[in-house]
Amino acid sequence: MTKKALLVIDMLNDFIREKGKLYIGKRGEEIILPIQRELISFREKDNPIFYICDCHRFDDKEFKLFPSHCVSGTKGAEIIEELKPAHNDFIIHKRRYSGFFQTDLDISLREKGISEIELVGVCTNICVLYTAASARMLDYKVTVLKDAVASFDDDAHNFALQQMKDILGVKIR
Ligand SMILES: [Zn+2]
Repeated sequence: MTKKALLVIDMLNDFIREKGKLYIGKRGEEIILPIQRELISFREKDNPIFYICDCHRFDDKEFKLFPSHCVSGTKGAEIIEELKPAHNDFIIHKRRYSGFFQTDLDISLREKGISEIELVGVCTNICVLYTAASARMLDYKVTVLKDAVASFDDDAHNFALQQMKDILGVKIR
């Protein structure tokens, strides 16, 4: 059976916790349970899990567009308690929207012989969308679990799902 990897995107305190620096609202909390279910199912099959985590310098250029968030070494940049990684999971730090941009993600997936990935996490129209776009351009097969992705903006969430399906050839499940 071909191995498939789960990518858990930006489920970090600053986005998911009400006191976080860039809290995305209730929608972010609602996807914790479906993501826990996916984690269990991937672990049972011994399929690899990659946590894709925003991790910025305090003076990152992204803070011209968004308020400061997920600064390296802060509590806000940590993965939420409910989704704690296991010791053999991969942790990939990123400074831009795409989990593939100047990170170890592509080489790590290739080392494991993985050509198929499933995306969950936040935000549907930002880091999920741009990670899906990069993955498709590298010819990975991509599935997005619609009940396990969320955004602060419902219209943008729906647009991103449609765009991923129609333009990127992502399977929306
Ligand atoms: Zn960021």
